[in-house]
Amino acid sequence: MPSIYVDHAATTPMSPAAFEAISTQLQVLGNPSSLHTHGRSTRKSVEDAREVIAKQVHCLPSEVIFTASGTEANNIALKGLYWQGRSQGKNVVVISAIEHHAILDPAQWLKDHEGAELITVDVTADGVIDLVSLKNIIDKKGSEIAVISIMHANNETGTLQPISDVVAMAGQIPVHTDAVQSFKKIPLSFSQLGLYAMSLSAHKIGGPLGIGALILKRAVEIPALLHGGGQEREIRSGTLNAPSIVAFAAAAQDEYQIAQVIELRNEFIKQVKEQFPDVIINGKNVDRLPGIVNVTFPGTQSDTLLLLLDKANVSASTGSACSAGVHEASHVLLAMGHTQQSAQSSLRFSFGSTSTHDDLNFILSVLPDVIARGRAANTK
Ligand code: PLP
Repeated sequence: MPSIYVDHAATTPMSPAAFEAISTQLQVLGNPSSLHTHGRSTRKSVEDAREVIAKQVHCLPSEVIFTASGTEANNIALKGLYWQGRSQGKNVVVISAIEHHAILDPAQWLKDHEGAELITVDVTADGVIDLVSLKNIIDKKGSEIAVISIMHANNETGTLQPISDVVAMAGQIPVHTDAVQSFKKIPLSFSQLGLYAMSLSAHKIGGPLGIGALILKRAVEIPALLHGGGQEREIRSGTLNAPSIVAFAAAAQDEYQIAQVIELRNEFIKQVKEQFPDVIINGKNVDRLPGIVNVTFPGTQSDTLLLLLDKANVSASTGSACSAGVHEASHVLLAMGHTQQSAQSSLRFSFGSTSTHDDLNFILSVLPDVIARGRAANTK
């Protein structure tokens, strides 16, 4: 029986180049902060990796701050820019309604514990932020806004957000974007976007789990979350994870199979619509990530579908948070106008560079039975 993985937005296989890089570096002795030969050698590998990442996203090497995850990069950026703003009397945090929990939750924490006023920008039915709503917020609250954080591409629907427009509207207000899903999938230029801060994560691009980066504009000083040895511009202390960092850089140099991924996604959508004429494909169909498809199957429960798919050897996802083993209705789909019921009838299929036509054919071969059983279970 094949085992099919269509959850590349959750994590994607480590690339051979990244595997080779981490395996080699794991055998090298030396703390990159040590001044002796061993330390300097590891430091050189880390700095080479920093340059690679910088080149990929068009920023200066000194603007790359390595972190342990995309989540950590988001937390450092949001909390740091908020605290920086608050020291100048600004206490408003603006985010979109469709952010990943790694922004939603720190934003809520700033509100609950640090005196932030939290304002959320609505999205359209297509899953794109409402720029008129953002403009109204900036017109009304501009001088009080410490940070605006809007994701570059949504992890559940794949919809891209108009970040250049956000930055243009923001003027002097610091803008952070969570580009964890966009990096390597679509063009991404930190300098061209004119951002203050941007988050990346290695395991979404074929690098190891547990390594990420915050791209933070030169000369922007923000308070640290972690204090200690003063690494990474004193913003993120902690001995650098050299093996994961070099593997992150190796993955960043791999070619993303964009044409193949787009073809698989388009074929999947075409065939799913033929098989189930009542499905809804969620999110805008242009300006989107190549690999993500979010589908509502009316009359089903996504939890049941996931179990049935898993039994049929297909790993997909709802894309939304899971608490105590139960999937909540997706806040992203709810923000786009779905009801609780339709949001809970939706699945995310995400293709990656290693996805094949055989994978696609297998999924399509098991779907009719899975959906029929899912619908039957839902009427019981
Ligand atoms: N932001 C987005 C949009 C994501 O999709 C994810 C991971 O799912 C994260 C942040 C968190 O990244 P990490 O898994 O590296 O903590």
